[in-house]
Amino acid sequence: MACYVQKFGGTSVGNIERIQHVARLISETVSKGHQVVVVLSAMSGETDRLTKMAKDLTPDPHGRELDVLLSSGERVTIALMAMTLQSLGINARSFTGRQVGIVTDGAHTKARVSRVDTERVLAALGEGVVPIVAGFQGINEASDVTTLGRGGSDLTAVVLAAALKADTCFIYTDVDGVYTADPNMVPTARRLEKISYEEMLELASLGAKVLQTRSVELAAKYQVPVEVLSSFQNGPGTRVVKEDADMEQVLVSGVTGDRNQAKVTVVGVPDQPGIAAKIFVAIAEAAINVDMIIQNVSQDSLTDISFTVPRGDLRAAMSLVRELAKEVGARTVEVNEEIAKVSLVGVGMRSHSGVAARMFAALSREGINIMMISTSEIKISCVVEEKYMELAVRSLHQEFGLETAPKTHADAVRNN
Ligand code: ADP
Ligand code: ASP
Ligand code: MG
Repeated sequence: MACYVQKFGGTSVGNIERIQHVARLISETVSKGHQVVVVLSAMSGETDRLTKMAKDLTPDPHGRELDVLLSSGERVTIALMAMTLQSLGINARSFTGRQVGIVTDGAHTKARVSRVDTERVLAALGEGVVPIVAGFQGINEASDVTTLGRGGSDLTAVVLAAALKADTCFIYTDVDGVYTADPNMVPTARRLEKISYEEMLELASLGAKVLQTRSVELAAKYQVPVEVLSSFQNGPGTRVVKEDADMEQVLVSGVTGDRNQAKVTVVGVPDQPGIAAKIFVAIAEAAINVDMIIQNVSQDSLTDISFTVPRGDLRAAMSLVRELAKEVGARTVEVNEEIAKVSLVGVGMRSHSGVAARMFAALSREGINIMMISTSEIKISCVVEEKYMELAVRSLHQEFGLETAPKTHADAVRNN
């Protein structure tokens, strides 16, 4: 008997028919004698709908109340799923994040899981019950509801799989795996049979929303075997696994585009030690993730500092930066929200050079201007004008021959 976590995303439980279909998938696994813990998202569009209602009332809703609101979406699907399974004769029971002991820090709307008290899930499994768990939510030390950031049901699934030492954490979604690019943007994108944790982590953090970034981080840390697959069709998906020798032969594994970025420029900053530290310490203390940073030395001992932040954090970042700009005597602060980040990811970049040059050449052939660049061992990202994002992703996908599967090690190297 194996122990599996099966997580179903928003489109997979998006209406009554989908819920009935997913109930049949769960019952097939249960009938094979396996232990199953199910994790569900809210119905597709529901979290957006709830967020919009809050933002229509006030531009800056309080995080605690937002979390009470947002966590309600998942309560609906777990109750409906438990009822459906019960009607099929399966002993299923719904559990909220609190009830399955997911304890987080206090960062409302993007809380981090600090521990999982598994007694209740284990007791349920011991009684032969199938726990149907609300994804995306936990409670903080004050017992207030928290949510785990967008896409956070993936994290619930991985955290439970790690705590229960499950054999596999299955992430069912509306595509049949992880592709070389978003298949909804690049029709020629190819499903990967397997991908390393490290590459998946980069792809996720660079915009491939198929898995939430934090969920991949934890899967890697606890070596949770993850498989991404479709709830709409049978067939294999993509396994997220430890890196192996084959993977290193492939130069680029995937391309991503991310619109969820904004560029902030502090113009005319005195060129003195300590100023950058002042700005970025304040932003970090507000739990805002800064990604790319560029500092240009200009004339008269003044510099411009540009950096990117997630669009959702722009309001908070701007109110901080405006204050700081005044304090340090900067001339002005500029914002550009019409940007996107395109990135190439592949562990093969560690041992092969020339990827950046090919990337820049491909973008320039399309007449796309590069505004910012950042690199790490296994990725290269460029900020471009938002309107060119899809064109950039498609051209890079083609440039690196990602639509064709590398057959042998030699082919892999040649293809790249
Ligand atoms: P769920 O609601 O099941 O959690 P998501 O919408 O969060 O589903 O994630 C699935 C979506 O991720 C797909 O529909 C696809 O458009 C998108 N996606 C982006 N990049 C990739 C990629 N590289 N491989 C597969 N899907 C991707
Ligand atoms: N419902 C939440 C969201 O839409 C969590 C999830 O689906 O994973 O972000
Ligand atoms: Mg998701």
